[in-house]
Amino acid sequence: MNPTPRVETPSTKTIRQDILVIGGGAAGFFGAITAAESNPGLKVTILEKGREVLSKVRISGGGRCNVTHACFDPVELVKHYPRGHRELLGPFYRWQPSNTVTWFESRGVPLKAEADGRMFPISDQSSSIVECLLNEARSAGVSIRTNQAVAQIKHHESEGFEVNTQDGHIYHAQKILWATGGLKPGPAMKLLSQWGHHMVDPIPSLFTFQIKHPLIEGLPGLSVDEAEASLCGTRIRCRGPLLVTHWGLSGPAILRLSAWGAREIHQAQESFDCDIDWIPNVKDAGFGLESMMKQHPNKQLHTLSPFDLPKRLWQRILDILGFKLGMTWRQLNSKQVRLLTESLKRTTFHVSGKSRNKEEFVTCGGVDLKEVQFKTMESKKLPGLHFAGEVLDIDAETGGFNFQAAWTTGYLAGKAMAESAW
Ligand SMILES: Cc1cc2nc3c(=O)[nH]c(=O)nc-3n(C[C@H](O)[C@H](O)[C@H](O)COP(=O)(O)OP(=O)(O)OC[C@H]3O[C@@H](n4cnc5c(N)ncnc54)[C@H](O)[C@@H]3O)c2cc1C
Repeated sequence: MNPTPRVETPSTKTIRQDILVIGGGAAGFFGAITAAESNPGLKVTILEKGREVLSKVRISGGGRCNVTHACFDPVELVKHYPRGHRELLGPFYRWQPSNTVTWFESRGVPLKAEADGRMFPISDQSSSIVECLLNEARSAGVSIRTNQAVAQIKHHESEGFEVNTQDGHIYHAQKILWATGGLKPGPAMKLLSQWGHHMVDPIPSLFTFQIKHPLIEGLPGLSVDEAEASLCGTRIRCRGPLLVTHWGLSGPAILRLSAWGAREIHQAQESFDCDIDWIPNVKDAGFGLESMMKQHPNKQLHTLSPFDLPKRLWQRILDILGFKLGMTWRQLNSKQVRLLTESLKRTTFHVSGKSRNKEEFVTCGGVDLKEVQFKTMESKKLPGLHFAGEVLDIDAETGGFNFQAAWTTGYLAGKAMAESAW
């Protein structure tokens, strides 16, 4: 059994610290632990507005926590970040998934990679990650204070930061790690703009598409191993497995498209057209269909689907295009081959809205990356202020990449705060 970690409810009203971490999520914890372990003499405190810390880690990955991704080449890794790919390259050379794996494994939490590269604790329980972070924070002497919503921060040249919480506590610190997660318009954005920071408009990313269309109606649960989804009127296209849901379309291809096209979709007020190529790996579908005609002339069209397409999808395409039951492959004429080719290579769906992906959703937008020094995660506007995690204008495709950004930026910020002169 792991010892119960110490989570404090503050009793004194004015508290002096060396480093204050605002936000008890993945990035805040990683930053706090790194700082305290790198410089054990420092007083490090996490202020969390909620009653619980690490609440997103707990619910993440459907309760299993997709901690990171088995992609160990920084150049490949950054390709999964619609926002932040340029800025994260250097940081990933300093802290990347292999470091995350070693960090957790050396602290008693072995990880495993699934076939698609997603990495989870072997226990398949997010609580393994939560307990590990709580225990490491406790061992490193980090104080954790819950129910501490930071409401105001003042900065004095000589004295550093004065942080006021909603319940009247005052904290003083030389350095602050701002790790409050995805920004929403409100007081936090006002606070940051008082120091000259600009925020890229926060909007949602990683969502599924609401679609009503006869081609997918009544087919929830149907999946295609590899499809290509593209945003009409743009060059944005993403590949991966595709899933039909009760509401429309989901699966990695759609989630990737929602991330890469987040801004365009938001501008279109979530009403837009999306094309699906059901067989993106097939270059010449017409040739493939003609081969089927030669190989299986007497087989019925409806009973033999080409290109390993799920039979229910193939039958639905045939029905919608008006092909009669009982028709054989030999009976196809060239016009019909063209018609089928066009449908298989491009079905246009109108998307009328978005639904939350229950596995993961994140904020696109946040603190402008131009205003952050990526070696130290320090603000270029206000020395002593550091950032980590989703508060930054960084977000990724689904697959453990969002947590990896939190671990990496938290690590760099913690290291820099601990090492800078006191
Ligand atoms: C349902 C769901 C599942 C997910 N699953 C995965 C997954 O499996 N893999 C993956 O890579 N990503 C996943 N994500 C995304 C991932 O959880 C986030 O990218 C990650 O948690 C960001 O970490 P963070 O520390 O920056 O922010 P957060 O985890 O949001 O933590 C920020 C903390 O700051 C606190 N806070 C905010 N304002 C204040 C304030 N004023 N004062 C004090 N405290 C404050 C908040 O209460 C919160 O606890 C998931 C997200 C969701 C919503």
